[in-house]
Amino acid sequence: MEYKKKKLCLPGDIVGVIEEFIPSKNVYQENYNLRSKVIGTASFDFESKIVEVIPKSMNLGIPKVNDEIIGIVDQTQGGIVSVRILEINNKPVHSQFIGLLILRSFAGNVGPKIVLKLGDLIKAKVISLTNNLIHLSINDEKYGVIYTKCSFCGGDVQVVGRRIQCVDCKMVDERKLSSDFGMFKKH
Ligand SMILES: [Zn+2]
Repeated sequence: MEYKKKKLCLPGDIVGVIEEFIPSKNVYQENYNLRSKVIGTASFDFESKIVEVIPKSMNLGIPKVNDEIIGIVDQTQGGIVSVRILEINNKPVHSQFIGLLILRSFAGNVGPKIVLKLGDLIKAKVISLTNNLIHLSINDEKYGVIYTKCSFCGGDVQVVGRRIQCVDCKMVDERKLSSDFGMFKKH
């Protein structure tokens, strides 16, 4: 009797423990744990006790380092922003991924304050997948907010210098704007 099970995993994910399985392709051992080296599908063979990970190809919609993403800011707390990823390299994603942006790393920067708000649509780059987290960066002029609405009245905004201003209520607000701001048409 052959029994196999498959499971999606990210680099560093635990795919088993050494008492249960023999590590094979793309699997490494750390203490008692077996972890995946890559993003892919872990395949468990319960007969031979072998676990291996078959790497995913890049166009299956899983974020990789250096990918550009578009996403919506859905939480900000203590300099950590979580971003719901909608597109990877201009292709819509099929699963839900949450990226993390740590604004603290910009604290030493002089120049405009880095500001993002809930609901902002942003463009960012994937800089690491450490600890199974999708770490994002907006540290480039093409990254940052590409679409937003007035946070006071919900009106459309226009860029005034390095800030945005509501065309309805005239409120001025700070954002880290992408050089693509305004070019984006919301689907
Ligand atoms: Zn307004």
